[in-house]
Amino acid sequence: MKFELPPLPYETDILEPQISKRTIELHHGKHHQEYVTNLNNLTIGTKFENADLETIIMVAAGPVFNNASQIWNHSFYFESLSQADDNKLKGPFVKIINANFGSVQFCKDTFIKAASSLFGSGWVWLAWNPKGSIEIIQEYNAGNPLRNGLIPLLACDVWEHSYYLDYQNRRSEYLIAFWSLINWQIVEKRYNNARK
Ligand code: MN
Repeated sequence: MKFELPPLPYETDILEPQISKRTIELHHGKHHQEYVTNLNNLTIGTKFENADLETIIMVAAGPVFNNASQIWNHSFYFESLSQADDNKLKGPFVKIINANFGSVQFCKDTFIKAASSLFGSGWVWLAWNPKGSIEIIQEYNAGNPLRNGLIPLLACDVWEHSYYLDYQNRRSEYLIAFWSLINWQIVEKRYNNARK
């Protein structure tokens, strides 16, 4: 099979207490895996069989797009999280956030508002707009800012499966927990790569 489930970049319990081991086990081991299985089944014998995920995301539609984008989005989401103090928002990247949003607090509030108000399932992103700014983007279902020429920096999964076991209907509490787990070192690295 061409498409494979990327391993988690950490142990399944490392994000506790904010995100439980049980949630991560299901989210990665079942949901993320299911998108991989689906995409392999959907692309056998098609022009997408040996394509990379980014290509599929840019050109495909329907179930092929949905499953390819969900694989990419979940890998990106899991890589965006960390429990380590070393990865907190600090240093020069604070100035970048301030320059784009006025303050870290305003960035956080706007991001969380966008994620709480997304109706149904989807993703909220920080993305680099090559016109010269970091933007907060809402995408429904499997949406990905790459489709609109933006470069993803951070993804928050607001599908219920990402928080329901830990927070039930309290999406806002999950979002505050998510914010506390962001690996800002990775976000900064993605930003620097996007600017090259
Ligand atoms: Mn998910």
